[in-house]
Amino acid sequence: MRWENLTDDRAEHGRAPDAALFGADAVTTRTVDSPEFRGVTFHEIRARSIVNRVPGASRMPFEWTVNPYRGCTHACVYCFARNTHRYLDLDTGLGFDSQIVVKVNAPELLRRHLASRRWHGDHIAMGTNVDCYQRAEGRYRLMPGIIEALRDYANPFSILTKGTLILRDLDLLRQAAEVTDVGISVSVGFVDPQLWRTVEPGTPAPERRLDAVRALTDAGIGCGVLMAPVIPFLGDRPEQLRATVRAVARAGATSVTPLVLHLRPGAREWFMAWLGQHHPYLVRRYERLYAEGAYAPKWYQRRVTRQVHELAEEYGIGPSRVGLPRRVRVPEQGTTPEEAAAPTQLTLM
Ligand code: SF4
Repeated sequence: MRWENLTDDRAEHGRAPDAALFGADAVTTRTVDSPEFRGVTFHEIRARSIVNRVPGASRMPFEWTVNPYRGCTHACVYCFARNTHRYLDLDTGLGFDSQIVVKVNAPELLRRHLASRRWHGDHIAMGTNVDCYQRAEGRYRLMPGIIEALRDYANPFSILTKGTLILRDLDLLRQAAEVTDVGISVSVGFVDPQLWRTVEPGTPAPERRLDAVRALTDAGIGCGVLMAPVIPFLGDRPEQLRATVRAVARAGATSVTPLVLHLRPGAREWFMAWLGQHHPYLVRRYERLYAEGAYAPKWYQRRVTRQVHELAEEYGIGPSRVGLPRRVRVPEQGTTPEEAAAPTQLTLM
């Protein structure tokens, strides 16, 4: 493994990541195991750039992204960003959940970027690769500096998250929303507690996420819900969809956008192994449903979308994407710039 050959004078514990892993994009600082984060290793790096252009942006709802972390302790078994750890020669299963790369200089880099004469104030999407409000953010506190920079330059931005930690930055978000377009989306694919515990073991409970939606909305920051993923045969029964949309409506979400589970390479192997362990009777059905590749058939996606839209209407949730800045659609967590370059990987999660 490439990490094994690495040394860095500033490494405190274990091995430090190598600049070569990030190409011209980063220099290493140190690797840290923290007692408060048992089983998690943080690889702190000083990135050389922080604003990424999305390849093929004409097909994407945004052109620029900022991702202060790689890897995600939220550990969703279906996470589409898993494959990105492969680029670092890291494991896409447990390694993705526990080997977290932290761009410790993200706020200062962003501020410098926004000040540049070459920057024209385009929209910046966050949470498009991994969750910027995952647990690590409680330790590193990168987002306040990032939001402050965006606020100070009145630069429009959006955040997609499953992390209730976003409420820590409510005042800053409110300040930013006074001077620019701010779009917040919280991801809640289902409210079934059993499904949540096994599929999204490191995330706050769906109810807590919906509490965050309520708090954001009460603070005057419109918040949509990305109902993702709708998991075939486990989270798609009519009563499950109804329970989720009803809870989303009660939380005051400005929109609900359903997305059916995708199984891209990297995520597919991990998810299918989990399925075989927890629901072995479903493995054949999944193989048939995803026989054509990463996506469920169009008829299935259309059926779920129609059901959710009908429920949204019944419960009085505004049309999809109401409340987001006009120029912005809901960003796609787990879709990296690298992935965006591949046409087959463009669909929402
Ligand atoms: S789906 Fe989102 S919250 Fe879940 S592990 Fe991936 S990046 Fe983290």
